[in-house]
Amino acid sequence: MNDGFCACGGAITRSVHVPDQPQGSEQCAACWYNQQHPTAPLLTLEELDSPRLEREWGEWLVGRLVDWHGHVVPIVRCEDGALRLEVTLHCRCGAESTPFYAASGLHSGAWPYIYDRHGTYLACIRDQEWRCDTCSAQDDARRGAAMGAVLLL
Ligand SMILES: [Zn+2]
Ligand SMILES: [Zn+2]
Repeated sequence: MNDGFCACGGAITRSVHVPDQPQGSEQCAACWYNQQHPTAPLLTLEELDSPRLEREWGEWLVGRLVDWHGHVVPIVRCEDGALRLEVTLHCRCGAESTPFYAASGLHSGAWPYIYDRHGTYLACIRDQEWRCDTCSAQDDARRGAAMGAVLLL
């Protein structure tokens, strides 16, 4: 859960990829990681948006850790062959999603488009938030269940 903001301006995040981050850290996982690894910092989204991404870096990128809006996430190859970031999303209640796969957007350095592992496009997190089953069920009940099967995001 977000309980404050990091000096970088992002929400304070935690990551399974940064196990040494202290519980009460006032930094996001990405800033903490970079402070601990000054000689090998996380890749940035701007770097990934370079046109060289798949053509020249290819397999070297798979498994590298990236600063995704303050989250520390790995690059994976999805079943459709594309390189994406394996991310988890957080519900307002604090629940965490199973992995989704984020890809680059129209705006350089954003990576807001969310796919499943087969490469099926699901949503853009610029204008939608992920809800856990419990919260989306509550929302549906409140809305009179008008939407039917609500998308995951
Ligand atoms: Zn930060
Ligand atoms: Zn929830």
